[in-house]
Amino acid sequence: MSRPSAVYVHGFKVKIKFKEIVLSDEGHAVSGTFDRAGSEILVSTAFNETHQRSTLLHELIHAMQAYANMQIAYTENDVIEPPTYMLERVLFPVFSDRRNRAFFTFLLGAECE
Ligand SMILES: [Zn+2]
Repeated sequence: MSRPSAVYVHGFKVKIKFKEIVLSDEGHAVSGTFDRAGSEILVSTAFNETHQRSTLLHELIHAMQAYANMQIAYTENDVIEPPTYMLERVLFPVFSDRRNRAFFTFLLGAECE
C-alpha cells in the first residue's frame, strides 16, 4: 500500500512521514505526533498497518483542530485528547471502509480519479 506524503488541511500542506521510532515532546515512544510549527505528522511503523492508519487519522484530527484555531486546547493534552480519540473512533471505521469509496469519491468531486 502506498503511503501518503502530505495532506491538505484548510489549504495548508501538512507533511506526513513514517518512521519506526516516534517520540513525544517528553521523549516517550508514541504511535504518532503532529507538529504544528513544522506542519508535520509522524507515524510510527512499529505498529501494524491498521494501527498506523488510525494513528494517521488521529494526528490529522489534531492538525484539523490546530488549523481551526483550537490551539489553546491543543496545548492542553488533557483537554484535547478525549475529543480527539472520540473523533478517531467514530471516523476511522467509516473512513477506512472500502465500501465507502463511492461516497468519498463524491466528496472529492466528480473529476478525481
Ligand atoms: Zn493525540
